[in-house]
Amino acid sequence: MKEKVLPYNCRCGGKLVEAMINVEHLGIDFGLRKGTVCTSCGDEYISDEVWEEIEKKAKELGLFGLERKVKIRKSGNSLVITLPPDIAEFLGVKPQTLVSLLPLDKGKLEIQVSE
Ligand SMILES: [Zn+2]
Repeated sequence: MKEKVLPYNCRCGGKLVEAMINVEHLGIDFGLRKGTVCTSCGDEYISDEVWEEIEKKAKELGLFGLERKVKIRKSGNSLVITLPPDIAEFLGVKPQTLVSLLPLDKGKLEIQVSE
């Protein structure tokens, strides 16, 4: 595979090269797509065309526009994240549904419905 170095650098200062990357977004596997990878930190970037395709697919699936901002509240020593009714309905979760909380990094939390 020909390796094409891009004319701009990664935010870490590393070189970006074109590569096929495995794109997964909104829990959907979009397969291997053309994107760019940093040869230094390994960060992957999806091209604009692929983002457009992801957006189109999200609209088809009714996922588009489901994103919400919610405020974290306090309950005892725990913090509570509320699920708006349309998201709860989409996920099929009810009170007492078991979910797994998976922190992906400092700014990202994945919630996996267990049942
Ligand atoms: Zn980098």
